Amino acid sequence: MSLPLEGLSAIVTGAGRGLGRAEALELARLGAAVVVNDYGEPGRWGSPLLERSRELGGGLGEASTAPAEAVVAEIRAAGGRAFAHTGDVSDFEQGRALVESAVEEFGKLDILVNNAGILRDRMVFSMSEEEWDAVIRVHLKGHFNTTRFAAAHWRARSKAEGGPVYGRIVNTSSEAFLAGSAGQPNYAAAKGGIVGFTTSTALALAKYGVTANVICPRARTRMTEDVFAGLEPPDDGLDPLAPEHVAPLVGYLASPAAAQVNGQLLVVHGGMVAIVERPRVGAKFETKQDAFTYDELDALLTPHYAERPRGETFAAVEVLGLRHEGA
Ligand code: NAD
Repeated sequence: MSLPLEGLSAIVTGAGRGLGRAEALELARLGAAVVVNDYGEPGRWGSPLLERSRELGGGLGEASTAPAEAVVAEIRAAGGRAFAHTGDVSDFEQGRALVESAVEEFGKLDILVNNAGILRDRMVFSMSEEEWDAVIRVHLKGHFNTTRFAAAHWRARSKAEGGPVYGRIVNTSSEAFLAGSAGQPNYAAAKGGIVGFTTSTALALAKYGVTANVICPRARTRMTEDVFAGLEPPDDGLDPLAPEHVAPLVGYLASPAAAQVNGQLLVVHGGMVAIVERPRVGAKFETKQDAFTYDELDALLTPHYAERPRGETFAAVEVLGLRHEGA
C-alpha cells in the first residue's frame, strides 16, 4: 500500500528540535521528501535565560547547523529522503532561498510547515524593542517569508498546468494567543497575527488547490522545559506531552485526505485534537441615531461587563486539559 505522502515534498521550519523535529520525522515516515530547516538558535532565551537574552540585546544568537543535520541523518537512517537548510526564516531572502532549494532538489514543493520559533518573554512594561522585534520577526514575518515564495510557486504551477495543483500549509499558533499570556505580549501578538495571516492565505490560495490551516500545539520541548517542569512524564513511558502527539495531525493536514480542511484552527496535544470554531458575536446593541452617544454606551455596556471577572478577556477559551490514553 502506498504511503499518504508518497511523491510529495515538504519543508518544515525549525525542524532541528522539539515539535518541528517530530513533524519532519512524521512527514518522512508518511512518505514525503523533507527539507529540514533550522537556524540552530542556541538558546530559547525564556525566563531562566533572561540575563543572556539581555546580553544579546534580545536578538538572535549564533547559529549552528548541528540540529538540522542530526534530523536529516535520522530520516535517512530510516530510509527517507531529506536535506538540511540552515537559513534564518526571519530573513526575507532566506525564505526565498529555502523554498527555491526544495524546488531545485525535489522538482516541486507540496507541503510547507511553518514551525520555527523563539521566546523573549517579558512583561509589556519592561520589554525592549529588540525583544519585541525578534519575536515578531521570527514567528510572524517568518511565516510570511516562506509562505510568500511557496504561494508564488503554486500559483505559477497552477497557471502553467491550467488548473489546481497540490499545496498544503500548516502554520503554528499557540494557546498563548487564545487564552492570553501576561508575560508574553510579543509572542501572543505574533501568534494572533499568524491566525489572521492563515485565514487570509487560505482564502487567497484555495483556487490554486492550496489549503492553509493553523495549529495550537502543546508539548515538552526546549521552549517549554520550565513550564512543564512539574509535569514529569509518567513511568509507563507514554508521555502525553511528547511532541509525537502533535506530529500526526500535521501529517494529516498535509495529506490528500485533508483537501476540504481550509482556514481552520485546531488545538492539539496529549492524545487530543480540538477544533476551534469561529468567534461568535455575543450581545449586540444598536442605536436609532447616527452614532451612539457616550451616555447610551455607558448605559448599555457597563451593566453588560459588570458581572464578568476582570481577568476574562474576550478571547479566553476553556483551557483544554490533558488526556492520557490508558491513564
Ligand atoms: P523549540 O525551541 O524546541 O524548537 C524551535 C526550533 O526553531 C529550534 O530548533 C530553533 O533553532 C528553531 N528556530 C528558531 N528561530 C529560527 C529561525 N529564525 N529560523 C529557523 N529556525 C529557527 O520549540 P518548540 O516547542 O518545538 O516550538 C515549535 C513551535 O511551536 C514554535 O512556533 C512555538 O511557538 C510553537 N508552540 C509550542 C508550544 C509548546 O508547548 N512547545 C506551544 C505552543 C506553540
